[in-house]
Amino acid sequence: MTATDAVNSTCGTLYVVATPIGNLEDISARALRVLSEVALIAAEDTRHSSRLIQHFGISTPLAACHEHNERDEGGRFIQRLLAGDSVALISDAGTPLISDPGYHLVKQARAAGVPVVPVPGPCALVAALCAAGLPSDRFIFEGFLPSKQAGRRSRLELLREEPRTLIFYEAPHRILDSLKDMETVFGGDRAAVLGRELTKTFETLKGAPLEALRAWVEADTNQQRGECVVVVAGWQAPQGEEAVDENARRILRLLLAELPVKRAAAVAAEITGARKNLLYQLALQERP
Ligand code: SAM
Repeated sequence: MTATDAVNSTCGTLYVVATPIGNLEDISARALRVLSEVALIAAEDTRHSSRLIQHFGISTPLAACHEHNERDEGGRFIQRLLAGDSVALISDAGTPLISDPGYHLVKQARAAGVPVVPVPGPCALVAALCAAGLPSDRFIFEGFLPSKQAGRRSRLELLREEPRTLIFYEAPHRILDSLKDMETVFGGDRAAVLGRELTKTFETLKGAPLEALRAWVEADTNQQRGECVVVVAGWQAPQGEEAVDENARRILRLLLAELPVKRAAAVAAEITGARKNLLYQLALQERP
């Protein structure tokens, strides 16, 4: 336990409670108990969340904790917690802090020695990943891409050779533009899955190479509505002849003009670090 992990035993607990991303049956029994037992619910949007808690017959008071007041007003919640009241943090949907407010409050609570307890549950990225059929042993969550094309493309460029499965959140009005940029940067052959309206009536999980997925979304405006997650297969190192990059091929061609095939392949391998037998195979095809 570090100094900041030291827990103040007289204070309340900050519960970080996941709520449904669509289907209300996904709320856990524990979440319902915690929401009804705490003194206060810190909610991203109190009007939105009051409908949720009313649905479950919970009458705990709500107070706003959103991205505009979280940093400054977090102190108010910390005072209540230090005074012995327990507080539940919720967001509009899913798990707080995951592309949602809550980070500053959790950080402040831990710094103040307030116990922070997760009450896990729905989360769109996990829902999409667990049904996508793409490798799930290692993945990265990128949240929302930048809204302007230049920023989006440069973020995607940084991820072009990322070998882990990639997960993105996207707004419906930008899904087509994002898929177009993914197709351009990652290539149309890269496998991807669009998870739309997960856990809701029109839930869709469409898997296809990026080119086909983009074309499918482009052709059907219904696919450009609702909430969506894009899961993209990670980059795979090229196999066989494709493993020799363009620079190595250029050097090989120059050497082939001067040297026998075997010697050209050996020297090109020395210069570029590419595998000698792959260069030799290429040299046989390319010799003048
Ligand atoms: N905290 C939430 C979570 O745990 O997933 C995410 C909140 S973020 C503001 C909202 C984004 O999550 C949406 O734009 C969409 O990308 C994704 N999302 C939320 N609910 C979804 C659903 N039912 N189906 C697909 N994507 C969803």
